[in-house]
Amino acid sequence: MEFSYVCSECGRRFPVAPRLMVCPHCSLAQAPDQPLSGVLEVELTGEAAADWEIASLLPVEQRFFPPIPVGGTPLWAPRRLRRELEFPGLYIKDDGLNPTGSLKDRASFLVSAFATKFGIEEIVLASTGNAGSSMAGVGAAAGQRVTLFLPKAAPEAKLIQALQYGARVFRVDGSYDDAYDLSLAYTARFGGLSRNTAYNPMTIEGKKTVSLEIFRQLRRVPDCVFVAVGDGCILAGVYKGFRDLRRLGLTDRLPVVYAVQAEGSAALARALEQGVFRREATGTVADSICVDVPRNGFHALKQMKQYGGQMVKVSDEKILAAQARLSRSAGLFAEPAAAAAFAGFLEARPRLPEGAVAVVLATGNGLKDTAAAGRSVEIPEKVITCLDEVNGG
Ligand SMILES: [Zn+2]
Repeated sequence: MEFSYVCSECGRRFPVAPRLMVCPHCSLAQAPDQPLSGVLEVELTGEAAADWEIASLLPVEQRFFPPIPVGGTPLWAPRRLRRELEFPGLYIKDDGLNPTGSLKDRASFLVSAFATKFGIEEIVLASTGNAGSSMAGVGAAAGQRVTLFLPKAAPEAKLIQALQYGARVFRVDGSYDDAYDLSLAYTARFGGLSRNTAYNPMTIEGKKTVSLEIFRQLRRVPDCVFVAVGDGCILAGVYKGFRDLRRLGLTDRLPVVYAVQAEGSAALARALEQGVFRREATGTVADSICVDVPRNGFHALKQMKQYGGQMVKVSDEKILAAQARLSRSAGLFAEPAAAAAFAGFLEARPRLPEGAVAVVLATGNGLKDTAAAGRSVEIPEKVITCLDEVNGG
């Protein structure tokens, strides 16, 4: 298998190289407060062996992989939930079971391998929380220095997690978007490999493994996939995996991807309606998908249009209700952004064809933000001392 970069806008090709992040031509047109111009994709050429492995479809050799078990997460067949919803084809891909508790590990894993291959010792990024704690954990396993720019509103668990893994954390008095800009200025001044989402082509490429796994687990391409969208990088990764499978002749179809956004952070949905991205202040309980400017916006939008992607918006109320429902009816405790994907499924459920196979991506573990999850439960006020104070069930 051979790998090169191809620009998602102008189609120019480049060799895979550590200093190349976005297309040198298209990035000249980069405007402030706009998604990234010239996002690069990895293009693979060659043929898959009959017994192909996922690692063989990645642009970094296995010997550079960090020693941490990323991926291989279970695809749940939630029997009780299926019955309640009368939807027997529902599956949930539980990526909260990755080592640091989120799908972001897939990107961190490949970025870490890439840094090792090219002898780069420091990895730098901005994050709403999950990518940061993920890179910190994967970097710790590989022995890489991780410098992280985190908005001050990031949930405490994610901050503490990153610090536990030994990352150097700068808390930013501003939004994720401010942190993103600062982290790019840092690498421009001090060097290191940027792991900023969509900016580093390995992020989308790493995330594609979720689709490759779903394909192997189902032994087919699902009819639809529900994915929560902030920057649009997981969305692009999901598409990339299925597109690679099609390119290699392993399937001839792609799923309908449902991009789910929180009403309070719906830049991609607005752009799909209006044709332009406008920076607007955001706020949602689903912190992982709270972005003013979706960094992979242009690229994500292009794919949504090209492959018939569907857009769903959900309120915070529905996200929290979906989170509780997943917990209670499936035993799967997901963070709000992950629950947003399920809320999107519930919203779209009446429109889905009979007998469809639908996969909901649960992208992060519920323990990452217990404050949000606490909003839909009631903690008993009464503290007991003996069994006389307890009613029988
Ligand atoms: Zn270009």
